[in-house]
Amino acid sequence: MIQETDAVVIGAGPVGLFQVFQLGLQGINAHLIDALPHAGGQCVELYGDKPIYDIPGIPVCTGRELAALLLRQIEPFNTHWHLNTLVAALSLQDDGRLLVETSQGAQLLARSVFIAAGVGAFVPRALKVDGIEQYVGTQVHYQSLPANTELAGQHVVVHGGDEPAVARAVELAEQGQATRVSLLHRRDVFQAPDALLQRLQQLRDAGRIHVEAAQITGIETAGDRLAALQLVDADGSTRALALDLLVPVLGISPRLGPIADWGLAMDRKQLVVDTEAFRTSVPSIHAVGDINTYPGKRKLILCGFHEATLAAFGAAEALKGDKVALQYTTTSARLHQLLGVAQGAQA
Ligand SMILES: Cc1cc2nc3c(=O)[nH]c(=O)nc-3n(C[C@H](O)[C@H](O)[C@H](O)COP(=O)(O)OP(=O)(O)OC[C@H]3O[C@@H](n4cnc5c(N)ncnc54)[C@H](O)[C@@H]3O)c2cc1C
Repeated sequence: MIQETDAVVIGAGPVGLFQVFQLGLQGINAHLIDALPHAGGQCVELYGDKPIYDIPGIPVCTGRELAALLLRQIEPFNTHWHLNTLVAALSLQDDGRLLVETSQGAQLLARSVFIAAGVGAFVPRALKVDGIEQYVGTQVHYQSLPANTELAGQHVVVHGGDEPAVARAVELAEQGQATRVSLLHRRDVFQAPDALLQRLQQLRDAGRIHVEAAQITGIETAGDRLAALQLVDADGSTRALALDLLVPVLGISPRLGPIADWGLAMDRKQLVVDTEAFRTSVPSIHAVGDINTYPGKRKLILCGFHEATLAAFGAAEALKGDKVALQYTTTSARLHQLLGVAQGAQA
């Protein structure tokens, strides 16, 4: 079913989140879409625990803290969330509206679109083993198992050598529901904080995690099931590892992906915009944050916030067909109403 809306924001990084806020101040509720299961973009995915020192008015905060503050700031607005969702297609319709199509099958017919896609959609690094892709979504789940997965009687193999892979194996072993938990990595050396490595060792000693130091060379099937992984050990010997579920945790990497196919003017993988309302070559499609380019562009969060503000004004004027007067959040009764801080409004 097609849903009609005034605005769709593609990307829930810091700039996409602030775009939702600025649209909210214009009285426009947005649909917000991100390929990741959580908001925050690079701030959470690439440097969640590192400090940022150049956000105006916040002397220091971590990437994760900034995302949390931005999420708090958009709470007053009725945002329609689409996480774990890739925007696959964006096309201009005959009536001037924009059709946004997602990997989950949603179709949004929007009057304005804001591409805040940063360096691209963050997607899990794929396991490159012939034939494995046909089991993705049934026995192979990238990053984590779906919440309702039945684990009793199952041998779960987590594949990876970095902190997220170790954490996933430890979490599964501690849950204690799976019959067997294995952690498969090419070497018996893992990159993770000391405390996590100590916990891994305790669980290994207790026989609750089995470390397999080997490389995957192929798969074995039984009927329509993935039955085992073919492995080669460091000494060159080969063996099969029977399993029920495989969780590859091999990292996340950004992919510009479908954006390059949307027919918008680009310059070296960036969307070309004006600096009045950060419109792309299709005026009702704005691009803000790291994804855009214009003379003097700097890939900083602060610059993205400015771009999102002017883009929201531009879109509001286009939707209204008239000028939008500047109002201050300090003094405007209308903005207080929208923010839910008007006298008599619920805090
Ligand atoms: C290590 C590091 C440190 C940094 N430190 C600072 C700093 O101190 N100060 C500063 O100002 N900047 C800093 N930056 C830069 C800053 O993080 C970026 O400028 C900022 O994240 C850009 O925000 P954004 O919202 O445009 O994009 P992003 O943060 O990249 O978010 C884009 C989001 O869009 C999603 N997406 C993309 N395409 C699609 C699609 N087709 N469908 C669905 N979702 C999609 C992605 O999954 C992602 O979540 C740093 C960057 C790095 C890597």
